[in-house]
Amino acid sequence: MLTILSVDKVTKQFRKHEVVLKNVTLDIKEGTFTAMIGASGSGKSTLLNIMSGLLKPTSGSVLYKGKNLTMFDDNEIANFLRNDVGLIFQNYYLLSHLTVEENINIGISNTGRHYELNEISKVLGIENLLRHFPSELSGGQQQRVAIARAIMKKPSILYCDEATGALDEANSKKVISLLHRIRQQYGITIIFITHNHEIAKTADRVITIKDGMVYRDTTCTNPISVKQMSWA
Ligand code: ADP
Ligand code: MG
Repeated sequence: MLTILSVDKVTKQFRKHEVVLKNVTLDIKEGTFTAMIGASGSGKSTLLNIMSGLLKPTSGSVLYKGKNLTMFDDNEIANFLRNDVGLIFQNYYLLSHLTVEENINIGISNTGRHYELNEISKVLGIENLLRHFPSELSGGQQQRVAIARAIMKKPSILYCDEATGALDEANSKKVISLLHRIRQQYGITIIFITHNHEIAKTADRVITIKDGMVYRDTTCTNPISVKQMSWA
């Protein structure tokens, strides 16, 4: 399997605050689903933001398909975020005055590469919601719209920061199983931060972050299916 992302000796310190990431080194293989777990404040979001190009590390490097993101200028980062990266957060960040369809089409141009809205909305089971406004949708539906928006432009890598953190069990399971499906169908690499150890069991790999370091890194040859998850 190809390495899509290479994090090498990354450290991060916010001004005079304490060091948040300490020498993090890891490779991500293309098409894999990696769960990242760890206590609150351990540095997961900071690491994810550095891996997605949103933040620059204090030292160390991040290679995306061999290109050094840390050397990119603002323009190159903007292009990288626009073309290669999907982002999903705990809060869906849908625009309330736009319909579901308009939200999904944000940032999609006729000339740029993108999936067909019909196809993606069917995959995510939101094809009947396209004319609705976000306030008319449940949390689970809104998160599925956010996923549709994130993957419409055919990103190669999807970063999810506690994407199911605000959802109940049934909706979380639905979102997780859709993410696995998207990965299979489109070969998108997924990095998924979660507090939920059952969700982590569905991943190919579980990275535990502790005090800004990789504390444990486990590859799972036999991840459980979403149906096998027992919710704690
Ligand atoms: P996690 O996602 O694991 O909860 P974070 O990466 O959000 O952890 O935060 C790790 C540490 O970095 C925390 O102590 C947090 O307060 C600190 N931190 C995060 N962002 C900033 C920032 N912009 N400025 C100063 N400190 C920050
Ligand atoms: Mg976080």
